[in-house]
Amino acid sequence: MNQVESMYLGFWAAVTGAVCGSFVCCMTERIYEKRTLGGRSRCPGCGHTLGVMELIPVFSWLIQKGRCRYCRERIPTECLWSEISLAVFFTAAALRFDAWNQKICAAGLGVILLAIALWDKDTYEIPGSLLAAALVWKMMFMMLFPKYGVSVLDGLLGSCLISGGLLLLSVCMDRSMKRETIGYGDIRLLFVAGFYLGLKGNFLNLFFSSLLGILMCAAMKTKKIPFGPALAVSTAFCLCYGEALIQWYVHIW
Ligand SMILES: [Zn+2]
Repeated sequence: MNQVESMYLGFWAAVTGAVCGSFVCCMTERIYEKRTLGGRSRCPGCGHTLGVMELIPVFSWLIQKGRCRYCRERIPTECLWSEISLAVFFTAAALRFDAWNQKICAAGLGVILLAIALWDKDTYEIPGSLLAAALVWKMMFMMLFPKYGVSVLDGLLGSCLISGGLLLLSVCMDRSMKRETIGYGDIRLLFVAGFYLGLKGNFLNLFFSSLLGILMCAAMKTKKIPFGPALAVSTAFCLCYGEALIQWYVHIW
């Protein structure tokens, strides 16, 4: 792929990612607030139906400076971050993977990870349905395109050993600190991530997500944080760059 083709692909991947990010944020918000999933988007402040110009991902938020054009109600920044993060991830995945099935598999995982991060942020829970969707999505690609991505054995090892290790650690920590330290939803997410990343990739994922978790604790000045967003970001990063990072690390030693 030459430079022009890469730019073209990257541009459309970013646009698709931003649109998907906007959709996921909107749907998660509606489910969380127990609103109907159908119908046009409205301003939560004054209730006016949003027009086309107010629905352009990223740009509408920036042009309106994060507020409704009519009542000046704040538009949550999480919509903007959802659109940007999925635009970045779709672009990274589109340029990182050669095969279309890998690009699509990564994009599907990105959508589910964003939903997990948004849901966990508000509820401190990771829905089993989202984890099951991510697992079924990967299984489908493993069966249809067995030569791409991690092997079934590597996926199984990455899932069971890394999430099993974290489960053991969490049981020990729960007993010594007499409170829940690591949520079981997080352990199950790490289990699912193993099928996408393999053993080495998921080990790296555990390392990066823990690092991110510690940074989040320090930034938010609290001991209890939703770990899902950290795991989601780390899983997305490791899927695109984990292997290259491991290769680089092995070579410098
Ligand atoms: Zn309004």
